[in-house]
Amino acid sequence: MRTLLIDRALAPGGNAANALVHCICGLYIISPDMIPRPANGGFALEFALALVEDGAASGPVRMDRLDVLLQEPLLFSRFCSKLLSKEKNLTFLPNTAIHRVDIEDSRILSVSLDSLANPIIATAFIDTSGEADLAHLAGAECESAPPEKRQQPAYIFSIAHVKMDAVDEEGRLEFSRVIVMGIRNGILDPRLAAAVMRPTCIPDQAQVTVDLDAEGDHYSQLNPEFLTKFQILGKNLATQLETHLRSQLTGFEECEITTFPAHVGIRESRRIAGRHQLTGQEILNGAEFDDTVCRSAWPIELRKTACGAEMEYPGKNKPCSIPLRALLSKDFDNLLMAGRCISSTHEAQGALRVIGTCLSMGQAAGLAAAHLVSSSNHCIEPGTEADVANPIRKIVFEGI
Ligand SMILES: Cc1cc2nc3c(=O)[nH]c(=O)nc-3n(C[C@H](O)[C@H](O)[C@H](O)COP(=O)(O)OP(=O)(O)OC[C@H]3O[C@@H](n4cnc5c(N)ncnc54)[C@H](O)[C@@H]3O)c2cc1C
Repeated sequence: MRTLLIDRALAPGGNAANALVHCICGLYIISPDMIPRPANGGFALEFALALVEDGAASGPVRMDRLDVLLQEPLLFSRFCSKLLSKEKNLTFLPNTAIHRVDIEDSRILSVSLDSLANPIIATAFIDTSGEADLAHLAGAECESAPPEKRQQPAYIFSIAHVKMDAVDEEGRLEFSRVIVMGIRNGILDPRLAAAVMRPTCIPDQAQVTVDLDAEGDHYSQLNPEFLTKFQILGKNLATQLETHLRSQLTGFEECEITTFPAHVGIRESRRIAGRHQLTGQEILNGAEFDDTVCRSAWPIELRKTACGAEMEYPGKNKPCSIPLRALLSKDFDNLLMAGRCISSTHEAQGALRVIGTCLSMGQAAGLAAAHLVSSSNHCIEPGTEADVANPIRKIVFEGI
């Protein structure tokens, strides 16, 4: 299908490229043994293998019961650019935001972009904006968690020239100890207590994540004022920490911040109301559906405060299926969605939002959109989702 990919960011890759998220979760099913087994095949598996082969990621690496890939955000973005340029039918429009959506009855007709005079007309639209921007502008029903429940944002930055053994498990403990001492001695801002450090696939590099306290009731992830405020706060905390680490932490004497994020990391935003809303209970029960198109294999991970995650694992570690209906808007016949804005509750989104799962949802939504475009009435009729899902699931599970 001829496809136009619109991204308001300059670098492709979403949060992974621009908020410097450096770990790909959800690619493998949860297992107590040490064998990583893919949760989905198809594009996600192909992407993961190619990413590692390209040197942009390493792993799988085991973390407790979970297997993840460690990726380097700039290399990840470069890899995405290479993939995009290989697709003959795909046009990528970076640095371009949607500012208007025209509709007629239950169909989206076109989107207007800030950089083009004429609106873009299409048969199917997929909202992968994370914020449900397209759906919201169209007037589709969306939902957000109340501010006091919403997942906290975080600021991530890259540090280079770090000695390799300083980022191993022992090094990471020492990193936390040095920060605690700095805070106790009044040298460091107490908000750095939440800082964690992880290695990447590049030997002398580390990524540091600082969860930010988003100030409860007043916080809105869609308010540019807050985003700017957190961006400034994050940068100040990062430079303060860099100076402290250089003088206090063995292996970090010559460390240097090499990359600040293009924006602060937003974990949760608006979610679009679909024909099915996935719930936390379905994630924990490993629900299955007639119209399954892919699987979610990450526990529910909620960050209500800036002091770490609450994890809730599914019973028997069983993956939860994602039905096609959760990728179809209930309000518009030609609107699909994938990624962290799919139709889910706040709790379910805590599991579904990870990158590995987003990759598979994206493939499923793309295949469903292609089906919709080819069908005579340009719509997936309610009640036919299971039939439409069957061939999609086969492609998304290919290779497992
Ligand atoms: C701090 C933090 C740490 C995380 N840690 C991990 C982790 O360790 N492992 C993991 O797997 N996941 C992690 N995640 C979650 C993961 O990064 C996201 O949930 C995932 O990237 C969601 O993918 P997405 O494609 O739905 O949205 P995004 O990655 O947010 O991509 C949305 C894209 O839409 C574009 N866009 C938005 N609005 C518009 C608009 N109006 N017009 C045009 N384009 C628009 C954006 O520029 C962006 O490119 C973390 C997230 C955060 C914030």
